[in-house]
Amino acid sequence: MKINENYLSQKNYVFTEISKRVSDFKQKHPNKRILNLGIGDITRPMDKRLVEVMTNALYEQTNKSTFKGYPPETGYDFLKKAIVKKYEENDISVLNDEIFISNGAGCDVTNILNLFKNVTAVIADPTYPAYLDSNKLCGNDVLLLPLSKQNNYKMLPYGIAENRSYLIYICSPNNPTGATLNYDELKQWVDFANKTQSIILFDNAYESFIEDNSPKSIYEVEGAKTCAIEISSFSKSAGFTNLRCSFTIVPQNLIRQSQNINKMWLRHQCTFFNGVPYHIQKGALFALSSEGQKICQKNINYYKKNVKILKKYLKDLNFEFVSSNNSPYIWVKIPTSQNSWQYFEYLLGKGIVCVPGSGFGEWGEGYIRLSAFATRSDVLAVSKLLL
Ligand code: PLP
Repeated sequence: MKINENYLSQKNYVFTEISKRVSDFKQKHPNKRILNLGIGDITRPMDKRLVEVMTNALYEQTNKSTFKGYPPETGYDFLKKAIVKKYEENDISVLNDEIFISNGAGCDVTNILNLFKNVTAVIADPTYPAYLDSNKLCGNDVLLLPLSKQNNYKMLPYGIAENRSYLIYICSPNNPTGATLNYDELKQWVDFANKTQSIILFDNAYESFIEDNSPKSIYEVEGAKTCAIEISSFSKSAGFTNLRCSFTIVPQNLIRQSQNINKMWLRHQCTFFNGVPYHIQKGALFALSSEGQKICQKNINYYKKNVKILKKYLKDLNFEFVSSNNSPYIWVKIPTSQNSWQYFEYLLGKGIVCVPGSGFGEWGEGYIRLSAFATRSDVLAVSKLLL
């Protein structure tokens, strides 16, 4: 046996590196207040009703007649039905067996690589780091498409050879830049993927933040069922970053090399994964109910208000930044000649935690990302310290 040497040449995962630096800083400055606008974890406590639903579901385990053993590998029918309904409300038809309940978008978007060999991944730069890192760890080729002011931070299928197929990562609204692809832009990707027999991995983690008429699912786009896998998460929409629940749609019509990718993912999940706990799926079900949706929307509105406050500060302080109204993140140009890790250290010295843009890729150099998933008091305190 040989070890996978790709693990040796990789730097620390950027969020791990940030945690390490912040914890070193805290040790040296135990009394300094830390304002966390960094890794993008949520800060709002869970609603009591949601926890009550999950607690009751957990208590079912104490009763002989309601006790449950292993969950179904791809999820309970009750949650799948609610997801089918959620898509139906958007005029999208999704079949029960196209849905795979999982324990996080992060897991599925990386584990899906097990289905493919000789991959060339198409990834935006800057990007959510797990796309690039997982491909590098697997030794895959990567085609990076730079996002900059020139292309409005939008990744589009321009200048890519059409004589082969790709695994294409699309995150819209984008982490970290917030750019959101409209119907026509997504249609260009769908047409490109169908033409080249590529597969789109559509990361829908921030769908619930969309407030304009941008598609909230890749399946709104004609032709997507034959080329796209959609990965959605309860993490940011319903506050499940700790509880872990997500769902991935692999259409039955997604066929590559005469093979049904849905069947392959089913085989994968049945082998590598044993399902999400019953009470967590009951919590996710509640989050999709009308009562749950109101609770989720309240939290989303709270974070959106944070975005507004931060944008006002940045504007008043003459920072250059981009942020769509569809995103919980603000992509800020560094106002000095420092590189992004230097500027990260400079802000950390004041007690502000951000993510250095270069952690998202080379084209992220010169920027930082601020997360609005912070507490209101942290957001309000930031303004006095930014300059
Ligand atoms: N995809 C993107 C683009 C993200 O930003 C994140 C988390 O920040 C994830 C996936 C991970 O989601 P989950 O908590 O469902 O694993």
